[in-house]
This record gives sequence, structure tokens and C-alpha cells, in this order.
Amino acid sequence: MGLFDGMDQMGLKKISQEDLFKADEPAKKGAPAAAEVKAKPTITEESYLLERTMDCPVCGSKFKVKAVKSGRVRRIGQDKDLRPRFEQMDTSKYDVVVCPECGYAAMTRDFKNIMEPQKKLVLENIKPGFKYEEPGSIYSYDDAIKRYQIALVNAMTCGRKDSEKAYLCLKMGWVIRGKGESLDKEAEDYEAQLKKCNDDENEALKLAFDGFIAARQKEEFPMAGMEQSTLDYLLSVLSMRFDRYDIAAKLVTGILGSRVAGPKIKDLARDLKEEIVEHQKAKEEG
Ligand SMILES: [Zn+2]
Repeated sequence: MGLFDGMDQMGLKKISQEDLFKADEPAKKGAPAAAEVKAKPTITEESYLLERTMDCPVCGSKFKVKAVKSGRVRRIGQDKDLRPRFEQMDTSKYDVVVCPECGYAAMTRDFKNIMEPQKKLVLENIKPGFKYEEPGSIYSYDDAIKRYQIALVNAMTCGRKDSEKAYLCLKMGWVIRGKGESLDKEAEDYEAQLKKCNDDENEALKLAFDGFIAARQKEEFPMAGMEQSTLDYLLSVLSMRFDRYDIAAKLVTGILGSRVAGPKIKDLARDLKEEIVEHQKAKEEG
């Protein structure tokens, strides 16, 4: 008889002596160090959140989601691809609403925006067998990634616009980047986990890139809330990331020559232009 025998009968994972004092160790390959990722921000992050009651437009049930209190977090900058950074927390984790009853999910701003035929599609294709529990306190990065996945499945099921699906992929990529940044550098498998995050982020952003390129050929601006100059700037950054400097150069030239693009986006585009020139030079020199 071991001290921890019988735990499985209560539906709990058996604890081994070895594991007991190694709480920091990530559970399994592929899985995030969930407990750890959560542990650090809990105290502060929770105080910037509120619970919002939502009415599901698809199944009519009421449920609670966590949302960031407006005006409480301070924006301190952005990544090159426009991912916003806030001093207190990563707000992108809280931008998807999931109905735990029927599985309908969308970005908060689009949640109410669903037509009757699409509701039927959700009820027929997503609701059967859907199992989801709203996380208890804060959303860990893995909770958030899961929420974006559910939203993406919904967007596909409902035939949402390419720009909307691309935007979900972009945001998911940002959240995965956040996860990579939050990993415990002391963890034994830190390198492996970071590599997985980088790979996943690349995959999400490549989907966003392809989706926005497709959308740009058939949809009207604004697209996913972005004016043309903003989207073209974002696409330039993504083009460079995926080694399509030809596309980036064309888009940047368009932004710099645009009469409607604002001075801020032109400044950003100018920085990109320099990078593109550097890249071409390096390539020629070889
Ligand atoms: Zn619902």
C-alpha cells in the first residue's frame, strides 16, 4: 500500500512520491506547464477581470464569461505585427466568448452577430457532443488557445468571411506568442516547449496571412475592423515573416503613396521599407 493508492477511485490522478515536490514540472510533452503559467499572473490578473453574463443568440442560454475591465489596463506598446501589449496582462486571452451549452463561439465583438441559417448550422454541427467547462479563475494561455480553436471551428461551420477567419488565426498566433513568452525558462523541457510555441505561432500566422491575402481580393474595407493601410501594413509584416519580400515591397510602396494612410502607419511602413532594402542588399551580396 502506498500513501497515494486509491486516488484513481476518486477520479484523481495518482500522485507519485517523485512528483509530489516537483509541482513546477510541466505535465507532459505538448501540454503546457499550465499550473505554472497560471500561478504567476493569478493575483494581479484576476483583479483586472470581471464576470459578464451573456445570452447565447444560438441556444438562448445564459452563461458567464470573463472580460477585461475597461480602462484598467495600460497599453505600453505593440509588436511589429500590431499585437498590443499591456502592462498588466495579455488581454487577447479574453477576446473570445464560448457558449458552454451549444458550443457557439466568436470574438466578443461579433458574438451577437449571427443569422438564423448559421444558428441552425451551429446547433446541427457543433452542439451535438460538445463538452466544455468555463475556466474557474483566469484563462490560462491554453484555455485561451482552446477558445480560439472553438471560435475558428464555428467560423468555418458558419461560413464566415475569410477576413474574419484570418483575424481569428492572427489573434490565436498572438496568444501562442504570449504563451511562449510566459514559459518557465527554468523548466527542463523549456526549449522543446518554446519550439512548439514557435511552430504553432508560425502555423497560425501563415493561415492568417493566406486568409487576408484571399480576403483582400474579394472583400470590401474595412476588413476585420482594419482600414486598407492597416491591413496592408500587417500583410507586409507577415509577408516578410514568410519570406515573400516581393509582396511586402509592393504593399509598402502602396502605403507610402497612399493619400488616405495616416502618418503613424506611414512611419511604420517606412521602417519596413528600410528592412526590405537591407534584405535585398544582403541577398545580392550573398
Ligand atoms: Zn448557446
